[in-house]
Amino acid sequence: PKIYKSPYPDVPIPDTSIFTHLFSSPSPDLVGNFLMSDIAYVDTPSGTALSRGQVKNFALQFAFSLLHGPSFEIRRGDTSLIYSPNSLAWPVALFGSAAAGVKVTLANSAYNAHELSHQYKDSGAKIVYTAEEGIPVVLEMFKDMGLSEGEVTNRVIVLTNSLHWTGRGYQRPSPSVRGFVTLGDMLGRGFLVNEERFDDELANETVYMCYSSGTTGKPKGVETTHRNITSVLEQTRPAWPSSPSASDRFLGVLPFYHIFGAVMLIHFPFLFGYPVYIMPRFDPEDFALNIEKYKITTALVVPPILVVLKNHPCVEKFDISSLEIMLSGAAPLGIDLVKAVKTRLESLRKDSGKKIAIVQGYGLTETSPTTHILPAADHIRKGGSIGRLLPNLEARLMLDGKGGDSNDAEEGQPGELWVRGPSIMKGYRNNAVATEDSITRDGWFKTGDIAIRDAEGYFAIVDRRKELIKYKGYQVPPAELESILLTHPDIADAAVIGVESVREATELPRAYIVQAHPDDLFNAGENKAAFGFSVQKWIKTKVARHKFLRGGVVVIETIPKSASGKILRRELRDRAKEELAGR
Ligand code: AMP
Repeated sequence: PKIYKSPYPDVPIPDTSIFTHLFSSPSPDLVGNFLMSDIAYVDTPSGTALSRGQVKNFALQFAFSLLHGPSFEIRRGDTSLIYSPNSLAWPVALFGSAAAGVKVTLANSAYNAHELSHQYKDSGAKIVYTAEEGIPVVLEMFKDMGLSEGEVTNRVIVLTNSLHWTGRGYQRPSPSVRGFVTLGDMLGRGFLVNEERFDDELANETVYMCYSSGTTGKPKGVETTHRNITSVLEQTRPAWPSSPSASDRFLGVLPFYHIFGAVMLIHFPFLFGYPVYIMPRFDPEDFALNIEKYKITTALVVPPILVVLKNHPCVEKFDISSLEIMLSGAAPLGIDLVKAVKTRLESLRKDSGKKIAIVQGYGLTETSPTTHILPAADHIRKGGSIGRLLPNLEARLMLDGKGGDSNDAEEGQPGELWVRGPSIMKGYRNNAVATEDSITRDGWFKTGDIAIRDAEGYFAIVDRRKELIKYKGYQVPPAELESILLTHPDIADAAVIGVESVREATELPRAYIVQAHPDDLFNAGENKAAFGFSVQKWIKTKVARHKFLRGGVVVIETIPKSASGKILRRELRDRAKEELAGR
């Protein structure tokens, strides 16, 4: 086998819980009066800040109420689900749960009740931490599950949206949360004196579960362990693209419920002492305004945000010259976009001559997530590349999915990227088959992405072998949309693929459908295009926004399939290219 090692020396991996790891160095401030340099998280709309000491105090108070409060029957090893846009409550809820030994499954904050209930049930969650705005969806979910009102109230903690820290405690939130336990209620009741320990072997217990469809099928619970997270944090440190400085400030705009946001915006900056300025959601004007207002130096982004920065007037309206580095992830980033954004932003700062580096990282939910980062110094020279392997990781490029010692691609040849190391997930929850399909017996995780490695050890992603579609960095599992399409009374068969939009720097999900009753009298007057549009509209009532069929719906006679019944997606992708050429 051709095994590529990381160019970085191995780093020591702590075998403790993430809580123990994050808080093992005593904070200068455990009593509440924080120094400005001690700020951990700031809510950008209100300017409310949490110091490092407050984060620790609140997390331990949250943990106490979780385990010992009257409301919840939850104990070490149980799971709760978090359903909220980015907010100051996130680090308190995540670290508090970790201190209590409670796992957290992270749900997309745009999910509808049906999507949420799949994750709630599949993850075995016992309670939900929801933002105030999520209450109606959570109530609908529990109603569909047949729970009475009384049964619901002790399964919900409302992470109040507006955290008005008054110096004495959180203000009582709005009437909509009456009857529910709120974050404010969780704090100030007591203090978990000793956090639950996950030392040595116990560090291999699950701490987070994000959902990913992996190479095929529907979303599955990815069991990310304490050790996975402590590993990836330590591995990322030496590979961080720029040299750290005391003035570094992170913008927390990517969603915290995706592992990239959860690890790189909640844990990484906290461990290394950088404040994070939290935005509930992306908006071009707010993005630029917050950079100006809070002198942001570092932003984690996805390619579609860079498209906005390339075109939108917001970058001229506000002074964003404090921004030194943008790290893009979750989807492919092309060199043309990097150059265009760099040129535009640097031309606006020509008086100061200040530079900006736009680099990309790569990884998957299953790899906790980052496995590769491009150093800032190489962002033009190696533009388009995902950079080098992080420490403690090994990689192989395989000609097919089978493994064996003679199937490795030659130097410079494309192959499926396999990765091995301490940040690879434990497996998919309750799904031994999918786990065995994705992790070999000797620990190689199959990414489903096709990569090339150059002689200097820089990798580039050139294709995707798996069926996954990514809309603006969000996972859109075709199997999920296909099974929903098949519930439509007038659809006999369906296949969903991704088509590229260069303008938006993303893929768009596109469906091919076969009509169930093409000759039906009721359908006789309806042409295929009209039926396609009606399905495109119909799907909007069924799924979260990122899964809308923005790439179109096309009616065809039959879905191309292999002898074994597998959808021939490549054939459909080629067909879509032809159909969309010239548009
Ligand atoms: P997720 O689990 O949602 O993070 O999705 C992981 C998938 O996103 C990977 O398997 C890739 O297909 C894609 N991906 C993530 N980062 C990159 C990148 N820098 N370049 C190309 N594809 C990426």
